[in-house]
Amino acid sequence: MQTNPPTWADPMAHLARTVPDHPVLYLSPRVLQDTARRFTRGFPGLVTYAVKANARPEVLANLAAAGLRAFDVASPAEMAAVRAVRADAVLHYHNPVRSEAEIASATALGVDSWSVDDAGELEKLAALPPGAEIAVRFVLPETGASYCFGEKFGATPEQAEALLARVAVMGHRPALYFHPGTQCDDPGSWARYIAAAGRIAARAGVPVARLNVGGGFASNRDGRAPDLEAVFAAIGRATRDAFGPDVPPLVCEPGRAMVAEAFTLAARIKGMRDGGRRVYLNDGIYGGLAEMRDMAHTRPVRVIAPDGRARTGAPLPRTVFGPTCDSIDRLPGAVPLPGDAAPGDYVLFDGMGAYSAALATGFNGYGLGEVLTVDSLSGHPV
Ligand SMILES: *Cc1c(COP(=O)(O)O)cnc(C)c1O
Repeated sequence: MQTNPPTWADPMAHLARTVPDHPVLYLSPRVLQDTARRFTRGFPGLVTYAVKANARPEVLANLAAAGLRAFDVASPAEMAAVRAVRADAVLHYHNPVRSEAEIASATALGVDSWSVDDAGELEKLAALPPGAEIAVRFVLPETGASYCFGEKFGATPEQAEALLARVAVMGHRPALYFHPGTQCDDPGSWARYIAAAGRIAARAGVPVARLNVGGGFASNRDGRAPDLEAVFAAIGRATRDAFGPDVPPLVCEPGRAMVAEAFTLAARIKGMRDGGRRVYLNDGIYGGLAEMRDMAHTRPVRVIAPDGRARTGAPLPRTVFGPTCDSIDRLPGAVPLPGDAAPGDYVLFDGMGAYSAALATGFNGYGLGEVLTVDSLSGHPV
């Protein structure tokens, strides 16, 4: 992967000029920084970025340039990546299971907030200097998300009460934390979690230093742009309703919604069969399209001829395969591509910044070729 990429006007200009035979991710720094500012202006609290969605240095650098100072990290390697672009970055270490060696590394780096969902994990943090923020992560059975994290992490509300009280006894700052599940487009999910947080805090009899409402903010996967401001407003209202005069400062940690729109992925058509009903791309679920194995991408795609012009034929549904020799390397459902799409063309998937570069493997010798910077993803002047 190139580390110092040139800037192109748009993906079409780069494709027509260089006719790459590998998949390319195009980053618009303007879109990324605008999204960061949309969060910091609209969200009623501290905005942190969940690094796992896309840890590329150019992503972290653009978020820092847009004013983000705090980052949600899950491992010492993510901490190092963040500190490499911003030496004074605030680190929230919200992976609730940590080895003793990881705790020592994080302590040395001056982590600002920890999360726990289990009594044993909390006792591992007993030796932290007093006054550390420890956020108790809880989970509710219901979900409005595309997939729920509750099977892996999260205390029940009853366990969370006990953990919160124990954090206070240990001399640390008790906070509460939840993640409603990723690609959550129901503001009601946050409202239910925040109401539960209010009950947990009241029953534990402990003032809550902060309430972290997680990531989970949806990105545009089906052609409808999510209304983030409506979710922010619902979060503000629910917090006032649940906590009354003792409203705790809020924190959020979006991953997906922060980066998704800033990237477009171009994959090339290697071959077509059965009169074009079966299409073979040079990227698939072992590469930048990894998430499509679990979550269908029903947003329209663009197809660009090698000369940079858009194909405009009436869409035909196709079965689309990735390049590896594994038969599960195929996109779910039928993907409509223009009738005049041909081998050598590029299929452009918009909104591909989250869990793409982060998950891509080199299986079978394929994988993402380059990440390049563009002035515009759409080709329309900005
Ligand atoms: C994955 C994750 C996030 C980000 O989730 P998105 O759905 O990408 O917004 C935030 N916090 C934690 C602890 C996570 O594991």
